[in-house]
Amino acid sequence: MQEIKVFKFGGASVNSAIAVRNMVSIVRDYSAERLVVVVSAMGKTTNLLETLVPGVPANEGERRRRMEQLRAYHLDIANELFVDKGHRVFGKLEELFVVLDMMTSRAPSSYNFDYDQTVSFGELLSTTIVAEYLAVCGIANTWVDARELIRTDSNYREGHVDWPFTEHNVQQRLLPLLSRGHVVTQGFIGGAINHTTTTLGREGSDYSAAVLSYCLDAASMTIWKDVPGFLNADPKYFHDTVKIDEMPYNEALELAYYGASVIHPKTVKPIQNKNITLHIKSFVTPQAPGSVVGPFDALRPATPLYIFKNNQILLSILPRDFSFIAEDNLQTIFATFATLGVKVNLMQNSALSFSVCLDDNPILLRQLQEALAPSFHLRYNDGLQLITVRYHTPDIVERIVAGRPILLQQQSRVTTQLVVENR
Ligand code: ASP
Ligand code: MG
Repeated sequence: MQEIKVFKFGGASVNSAIAVRNMVSIVRDYSAERLVVVVSAMGKTTNLLETLVPGVPANEGERRRRMEQLRAYHLDIANELFVDKGHRVFGKLEELFVVLDMMTSRAPSSYNFDYDQTVSFGELLSTTIVAEYLAVCGIANTWVDARELIRTDSNYREGHVDWPFTEHNVQQRLLPLLSRGHVVTQGFIGGAINHTTTTLGREGSDYSAAVLSYCLDAASMTIWKDVPGFLNADPKYFHDTVKIDEMPYNEALELAYYGASVIHPKTVKPIQNKNITLHIKSFVTPQAPGSVVGPFDALRPATPLYIFKNNQILLSILPRDFSFIAEDNLQTIFATFATLGVKVNLMQNSALSFSVCLDDNPILLRQLQEALAPSFHLRYNDGLQLITVRYHTPDIVERIVAGRPILLQQQSRVTTQLVVENR
């Protein structure tokens, strides 16, 4: 059998009929290969679905309006793609709308559970359209339900993959199908042992593709994006960005950890473990080489890398009894972070206070304040930006800070991190 490649198409690559046609033309270029095509929800569908989780819409009218918006968006795309209005895709979409309608009119149970049962429909809808359209275009494929491929625990909204089960299962199910054509499946979603739907965390489709690449020992994995590859900075902030041609796995891990939005942080490990190369390519210029993450020794070309994280707060935690910040205090603080699911972007301690840079989330902040109040005072600054520069030089740091007050700075041999006012 030919080599297996895993392709991941994100929301932006399937956000309209034109986009779907474009992605199909990319898949067509690889007809000599065996592809596992992992697809995200179309455009901003996941955001819309988040507003449909039971208990979220303020009233029934609002729920219906949102359902209608979701329906119209997908049906418009399907209507543009499928000339035959009697095509079975319309029946399949209708079935999904009916189940989603039922699901979202139920009384709320636990939020995380409801969330996964609801938002997973974005990927079910998108893959239904994509798989049927590929077939109409003469590209043989099988639609596979990712909930039957990727087994997770029932930690809803951030399911942990059961690797041994999933690896065996994916091989058993997909290898026979791949001998007949491509496979189309959903990113982002998995299934728990009790047959409920789970998700792998927002933007988790990259991770799904990495899980499948690992399980199938894929020759490579490709993420198709609206950028020419891995850029050294977000083009939202920089106009003179540099495209990276080759990036070592560990560099990609570091960047994802620091918050580079190009790849999901959990994506790199599985493919690194199997030495699978990860290509990041543009769906606008699919023939261009893009970027490759792989077993390289160094970044090529050598260039500073910038990661900006907006909407940050810097929280200082001070013991009420004026004790020093020591192991016992830190233990309490970290236990609270772990319980509440707080993700720390940067931390620093001094004798009398412990400071952390976090994404601004008022609900979580209130919970933190309540939990720590018995032993600690909390103070914070908001409206901040966390900047990470890899391979910094002093003039670069100066240029980026641009005279803004620096609230916190940390520097290692290759990485500088700064918390500054956002403006
Ligand atoms: N559709 C999901 C999200 O928007 C997963 C993904 O796009 O990777 O978070
Ligand atoms: Mg997305």
